[in-house]
Amino acid sequence: MDVMTDQLTVSVLGTGIMGAAMARNLTRAGHTVSAWNRTREKAEPLAADGARIADTPADAVRDADVVLTMLYDGPAALEVMRQAAPELRPGTVWAQSTTAGVEAVGELAAFAREHRLAFYDAPVLGTREPAEAGQLLVLAAGPEQERRTVQPVFDAVGARTVWTGDDGAAGSATRLKLVANSWVIAATSATGEALSLAKALGVDPQSFFDAIAGGPLDMGYLRAKAALVLEDRLTPASFAVATAEKDARLIVEAGRQHGVRLDVAAAGAERFRRAAAQGHGDEDMAAAYFASFDD
Ligand code: NAP
Repeated sequence: MDVMTDQLTVSVLGTGIMGAAMARNLTRAGHTVSAWNRTREKAEPLAADGARIADTPADAVRDADVVLTMLYDGPAALEVMRQAAPELRPGTVWAQSTTAGVEAVGELAAFAREHRLAFYDAPVLGTREPAEAGQLLVLAAGPEQERRTVQPVFDAVGARTVWTGDDGAAGSATRLKLVANSWVIAATSATGEALSLAKALGVDPQSFFDAIAGGPLDMGYLRAKAALVLEDRLTPASFAVATAEKDARLIVEAGRQHGVRLDVAAAGAERFRRAAAQGHGDEDMAAAYFASFDD
């Protein structure tokens, strides 16, 4: 494919928390965007930004230079791309930003090979607010050749792209993403447990924050996630409990397959599962706090 200008036709498959914000920033950057979402109502507000709302994945990818997938997990991305297959042209670039497991990336790359798509493993770091501001960190691996086509897409959704390799199938970007999320999930679990212990022991959370203020244990993330719980601002979620459970399980599985035990991630997954069972699945992942308490 030879794209002569930076103005592209981009198809966004999956317009949830992240995908909708990314699609909006693609329209703002001047790209022609067609958007599809399983639940159509979530895609419809993008029409006001100039996006075309497609009825099916195949309809969405017709004439696309770049297809951007931002779905729940690897199996959902594969299923949606199978539905898109009749209209996928050989040579189309696929930027795959769903957080998938290392193994799943291999399966997605195999689909891309079969359909002669240029595959980019391209997960992102950053949550709802950076997504809305076009300030994500894009982690990307894929062939040198089509980077000049895919880079304007990454530039529209992100502040920076970190290239981790030239073979998307090897999943080097996803590996880095899973490492980063293992830290996010550990910090979220620790925040929830510190707050619940404080409550149980009759300790004012503010006295805990004051005790660590300005020292090496203080952390903006702790303050931000604790505030969501303490101020009851768990909806709308930036990163939902159910999605965090999915990621925690991907992390545990990646560790298991590569011979390391990840006990904290496993406990985090269990906390997210319990919080979801209590009815907090759609709330921000900070709601894992509630897993410390019996109903
Ligand atoms: P979300 O709002 O729950 O969006 C998930 C999307 O996947 C929705 O469009 C949903 O469609 C769709 N979906 C789920 N299962 C499907 C299926 N079987 N077939 C078709 N579509 C399906 O989640 P999100 O937070 O935007 O996350 C999207 C991806 O980005 C996930 O992989 C997540 O791990 C990753 N991520 C999230 C964040 C974050 O902070 N939120 C940050 C970085 C990466 P419906 O609307 O019909 O349910």
